[in-house]
Amino acid sequence: MAVPLLDLKAQHATIRDEVLPGLISLIDDQAFILGAPVGALECEVAGLSQTRYAVGCANGTDAILIALRALDIGRGDEVVTSPFTFFATAGTIHNVGATPVFVDIDPKTYNIRPDLAAAAVTSKTKAVVPVDLFGQMAAIEEIRRLLPTMPIIEDAAQSIGARRKIDGEWVMAGQAATIGTFSFFPSKNLGGYGDGGMIVTQDEAIFKRLQRLRTHGSVQTYFHEEVGYNSRLDALQALVLSAKLPHLAAWSAKRRENAAFYTQAFADIAEIVPPYIDPANESIFNQYTIRVARRDELKAHLAAKGIGHSVYYPLPLHLQPCFAYLGYREGSCPESERAAKEVVSLPVFPELTGAQRDEVVVAVRGFFGK
Ligand SMILES: *Cc1c(COP(=O)(O)O)cnc(C)c1O
Repeated sequence: MAVPLLDLKAQHATIRDEVLPGLISLIDDQAFILGAPVGALECEVAGLSQTRYAVGCANGTDAILIALRALDIGRGDEVVTSPFTFFATAGTIHNVGATPVFVDIDPKTYNIRPDLAAAAVTSKTKAVVPVDLFGQMAAIEEIRRLLPTMPIIEDAAQSIGARRKIDGEWVMAGQAATIGTFSFFPSKNLGGYGDGGMIVTQDEAIFKRLQRLRTHGSVQTYFHEEVGYNSRLDALQALVLSAKLPHLAAWSAKRRENAAFYTQAFADIAEIVPPYIDPANESIFNQYTIRVARRDELKAHLAAKGIGHSVYYPLPLHLQPCFAYLGYREGSCPESERAAKEVVSLPVFPELTGAQRDEVVVAVRGFFGK
């Protein structure tokens, strides 16, 4: 029996009847751009994230791009971020005209090391962009403590609904940053039926700027204070996401349960390093990612057994050809480089059946002769 890495059809089947009537009535109304569905989802995501404001946009990449612009980041500026992330985190920094400055990760959580971020700050640094990788939040409070006045854009594309205990209080992904960004790409924990994104903030002035940048830099139609973007969240996607949102907590709990099952099932295999969740964090396990020295051999074995798997990410951003102009070399961020050679993610999606989960365990254990 083949097991997919992610089964979106299985999730759709469980909510089809909740999603489709709203979509049909929106199509009958032909009211596709912004409007009530987007406003409703913005309120819901602000509620979940414990932020005062939320602004829907076209995707998670634009969410970062617009956040950078809202902080007036552009040519001549530096932005400190992680090289062990999806390309969009740094591509957007480049695209606003700024320079990405890559600092290494913690090898256990795969998130940016706050001390290295602080050490990389220069007079040109305008923001730090930590990524909440694989579903667990970065050490936001530590970055804040080391850099009290530095704006933080939290790339929470993989971590909507994740939380972290800071000074005894739960803090949601996006809540404690200057600006938090989410993606509704179908493979994220809250995924649409197409692209979508959201930006959250506690700051009213930033909120107004985000709204303006989303619609060509215009507040009053046809009058433009600045050059912005056409980056709206589609109303059809907003309806899908509002129908899915009430299920998000249970789905993420199911992912945690699957993760705990795997970690238990691999406990006697010393060659497998299971995901490490910082005791302050509650992860939403967008990915269940193990480290294995013989990673490429394990991949070949899983492929032969029909077990879905993927490597996030095989080449850290500081070594990408497009960033050669920045002058990083092999060895610049050794933990990111080592992680890129050793990680592999296994199926952890909430609809995974017990039989599928067992199949994954048997295949992985089999590789280690167990
Ligand atoms: C998915 C993702 C993005 C980009 O989101 P899109 O909606 O695909 O544009 C950005 N950062 C990270 C870490 C992501 O995982």
